[in-house]
Amino acid sequence: MQSAVFHGREDIRVESIPEPTVGSDDVLIDVVACGICGSDLHEYVAGPIFIPGEEPHPITGEMAPVPMGHEFGGEVIAVGDDVEDVAVGDVVAVNPIIYCGECRYCEAGTYHLCESVGFVGLAGGGGGFSEQVAVPAEQAIPLPDGVPAEYSALVEPFAVGLHAVRNAEFEPGDSVAVYGTGPIGLTVVQAAAAGGAGTIFAVEPQDSRREMAADLGADVTIDPTDEDAVETIVDQTDGGVEATFEVAGIGPTVRDAIASAKKEGSVTIVSIFEEHVEIDPNAIVLGERSVGGTLAYEGGPRSDVEFGAVLDMFADGTLDPEPLITSRIGLDAIVDDGFEALLDDDREEVKILVEH
Ligand SMILES: [Zn+2]
Ligand SMILES: [Zn+2]
Repeated sequence: MQSAVFHGREDIRVESIPEPTVGSDDVLIDVVACGICGSDLHEYVAGPIFIPGEEPHPITGEMAPVPMGHEFGGEVIAVGDDVEDVAVGDVVAVNPIIYCGECRYCEAGTYHLCESVGFVGLAGGGGGFSEQVAVPAEQAIPLPDGVPAEYSALVEPFAVGLHAVRNAEFEPGDSVAVYGTGPIGLTVVQAAAAGGAGTIFAVEPQDSRREMAADLGADVTIDPTDEDAVETIVDQTDGGVEATFEVAGIGPTVRDAIASAKKEGSVTIVSIFEEHVEIDPNAIVLGERSVGGTLAYEGGPRSDVEFGAVLDMFADGTLDPEPLITSRIGLDAIVDDGFEALLDDDREEVKILVEH
């Protein structure tokens, strides 16, 4: 079968790989759609990062070249002998977290913090940019009635946004600021709105992404190339918002996210960074601000916690993935119309789905 395989930096090839084998606890999925994620793009430009490049991943035993794609879902076409909760014909979203099940974090149920954490489509285990993928049944979450099959590819990024908003623990009515409204920033805006945030500020240099943020729930949008975001936010909120989210992954947005949180406010860093950034610790200490990070979403057997919540919110319309989908492409076009398109600001892409 055909699959997009990461061989190295700027070297992703669509090629033939063996069909997956289905273990007794696994389900075989005929992939309907798989999204290209910002972290896939990081791998393409600066990788291998999450992809094991030097030595095999401790759980999967795999290393580059590996099939890519971790935001996906599709129709179950076969199940292993011991699978009970998922049936052939079910349409599922895949929670791609790979965890050991034995470390202190797995024991505590926080599988996303596993000492050996990995993701299907980065650390081995197949990938969603393939015709078929086999995953453990407990990581295949059936879609509620009425949720289109292709939305299975958007559950993962929305779970990231929901996890960030839940960790920030702001109260309904509180104002928030989101720095960076790419795909994940947009899910944070929607999750914050769903969580009852008051005024939502969105700071984003790209016009189309700023407009999209406004459509999806941001009350005030700021072009940081045009005005001082911190000044505007501090002015309009009597000294700062209750919670800020950093979703751009660069130094200036980290510093601005700290500076525009009110005293005792919270700063949640959602990005993955390619470089170290400089911050002034006094900006945290003198206002008793708390700065935290969030990674992924709660996974493993408790995948219903955030994956299930996102699916319920897709079903009742609280979260709407449709506006994020800017292109649908075939697997053969994944480099030119996928990765390269996302790197070209003029093409104004947000979420590109590879569909089979
Ligand atoms: Zn992702
Ligand atoms: Zn573990």
